[in-house]
Amino acid sequence: MSDATADIGVIGMGVMGANLALNIAEKGFKVAVQNRTPEKAFAVRDDNPDLAGNIVPAESLEDFVKSLKTPRVAIFMVPAGQPVDDEMKKIAPLLEAGDVMVDAGNADFNDTVRRSQAVEGTGLKFVGMGVSGGELGARHGPSIMVGGAKETYPLIEPVLTKIAAKYEGEACVAWLGPDGAGHFVKTIHNGIEYADMQMIAEIYGIMRDGLKLEPAKMAEIFRDWNSRELASYLIEITAVNLDEKDPETQKPMVEVIVDEAGQKGTGRWAVIEAEKLGVGATTLEAAVAARGLSSRRSERADAARLYDKVEAGQAQFFADEAGLAELESALVTAKIIAYAQGYAAMAAASEENGWNLPLGTIAEIWRAGCIIRSHFLDDIAKAYDKGHTVVNILQSPDFVGRVAKGQAALRRVVAKAALGGIPVPALSAALAYFDDYRRARGTANLIQAQRDLFGAHTFHRFDKDGAVHHQWPAV
Ligand code: NAP
Repeated sequence: MSDATADIGVIGMGVMGANLALNIAEKGFKVAVQNRTPEKAFAVRDDNPDLAGNIVPAESLEDFVKSLKTPRVAIFMVPAGQPVDDEMKKIAPLLEAGDVMVDAGNADFNDTVRRSQAVEGTGLKFVGMGVSGGELGARHGPSIMVGGAKETYPLIEPVLTKIAAKYEGEACVAWLGPDGAGHFVKTIHNGIEYADMQMIAEIYGIMRDGLKLEPAKMAEIFRDWNSRELASYLIEITAVNLDEKDPETQKPMVEVIVDEAGQKGTGRWAVIEAEKLGVGATTLEAAVAARGLSSRRSERADAARLYDKVEAGQAQFFADEAGLAELESALVTAKIIAYAQGYAAMAAASEENGWNLPLGTIAEIWRAGCIIRSHFLDDIAKAYDKGHTVVNILQSPDFVGRVAKGQAALRRVVAKAALGGIPVPALSAALAYFDDYRRARGTANLIQAQRDLFGAHTFHRFDKDGAVHHQWPAV
């Protein structure tokens, strides 16, 4: 009798891999599991007696491969980078034509393109799959962004549809395009996540330093906001974060946490890729830069001493109904602008790589399971669902009215924060982008003049066709 009983396999029994395997087992599939330290694979089965019948731990990669039904599907859930290349190198000789390797980690999409090309002609198939939702998402339903050959998708689709999060019954998983498409979309997801979190943190800064509110009061406000336009996972958890008390000191938990943010790189990749595509995602960039500056805490403390005599002015924020409504509206508007930037980066990448990314579908599969899940994404999905080309979310009829209405609040909040010396880098980047984006006549004519003067780079005239160079006075 063949040992090949498993429908699918997962390599890497860390936080994500183990939870993904349990999710697969719970949905009725038999899942083979393997880890470089094999005990962890056996522990996943032994620690979960309810699902043990569907979990097949393997001592070695050879046993893992033997336990898989053909065509074999092996999902890697190991750290991005070299570990993925190493695992591919080890398993490839054990597989046969038609078998599928799936990288479900947070890969740089450029690596995914390279790996897709490397397997071409070998008979093996490679899928780059972004998985969002953290540990709980992996366990109970993540949002899954798939890239790879379209013909390969049906081999993994039945399992993915079952394990993915559901939004009103629809599975939050889709094939998005060839090679690096899935990982690129996951990268932009994370960049938007950074911007979302930074903007919330900036509003928290205004509440703390401008309004002098206690965290418990802030939690109440965020809970209230979570019942309207801003309703989202990140707003929901922010209220929980702010309400929590430290068991040791009884102080609000947020006040015992050091103000240095960690990052693993995907937000930075999103910004770099957007820049490479000529689509400056300035709110994402502000968020990445703010995390970088946050980690220079002692340097910031020195700077605070150097500038302690600087009078910033008065922040005129009010914690009354109108003042809080203004903050809420500013956050909604800045959020729309951040998503517009992320979507612009995806549209540009789609064109550059010939991916034909289904932007509306991406909003649909982000509505549940992932960290940026929200009702707002349903609005984006609907904007793309109308069959017309959406040049930019800021030009979509569904959003023009909302942004036009909310921009005044964003403007007032950014202006007051600037006057009060409260940093709001992502909110102000959103406002600056909006003002720049809606200005028909910009100032790049002067930049062109400068470039032509010092480098004979030429420029175009309004009244004639073609590039020209002007003989500027010698400087
Ligand atoms: P993790 O908890 O650190 O687990 C990593 C796993 O990979 C462990 O099983 C580890 O084996 C194995 N591993 C480490 N280095 C390896 C190598 N060189 N060769 C083979 N196996 C190796 O990581 P994780 O949080 O599950 O993340 C896995 C992937 O998912 C990463 O790409 C991550 O970016 C992505 N991701 C994470 C999250 C999240 O919220 N954590 C969310 C989305 C995506 P040992 O047990 O032997 O150390």
